[in-house]
Amino acid sequence: MRPAPHTALVDVEERIAAACSRAGRDPAAVTLVAVTKGRAPDDVRALLQAGQRVLAENRVQDWRALVEALGDDVAGDTPPQWHLIGHLQRNKVRFCRPFALIHSLDSERLARALDEEGAKHDHVFRTLIQVNVSGEASKFGVATVDVEALIERVAALPHVEVVGLMTIAPYHDDPERARPVFAELRELAHHLDLRERSMGMSGDFEVAVEEGATLVRIGSALFE
Ligand SMILES: *Cc1c(COP(=O)(O)O)cnc(C)c1O
Repeated sequence: MRPAPHTALVDVEERIAAACSRAGRDPAAVTLVAVTKGRAPDDVRALLQAGQRVLAENRVQDWRALVEALGDDVAGDTPPQWHLIGHLQRNKVRFCRPFALIHSLDSERLARALDEEGAKHDHVFRTLIQVNVSGEASKFGVATVDVEALIERVAALPHVEVVGLMTIAPYHDDPERARPVFAELRELAHHLDLRERSMGMSGDFEVAVEEGATLVRIGSALFE
């Protein structure tokens, strides 16, 4: 099936490509993660029909409802890949095997719960550690100084893999103010030898791409 045009998606892709070109980066190194939280199934379907294949939800319950509403009616040959980007409660880990990536690992307790669940099903969860770089953006996330210790603990858990870091920058009208936060996440990932950097949302993704994001999580810019 031929992709149906989607103006907002094309616009976001072009802005990512322009940011890559300013930073001398390959656009193929940046994955656009479309955040569907709170969106109508028809609007999500339009994105799928336009060829968008990486989607994310904040909450496990919302994701389950959305997937049910979408049914098998997902256009294209490749099934969409789902990520989880919101805070995960330990009692929800049993629903999480379908997620290709969990962006919000933020405690050893959660890592242990995932490890136990993975062990039951011979499954390895791919995760990012959510880092509270600024110390103010969110009540979730691990303080920068505690990330390395958490990684060492998770390394002992065979059913949890950490492939990178995620952060949410504090909200400002001026996206430039997020730049130091993104730069710090990039440096931390480099120091820890982690490949993926999930940073940048609708208000600040161009700055995040310039600072080395490999995953940008974009909701409103795609839907409004
Ligand atoms: C909602 C959300 C996004 C997307 O935010 P927009 O500003 O709508 O692009 C990205 N990351 C997380 C963790 C979110 O909760």
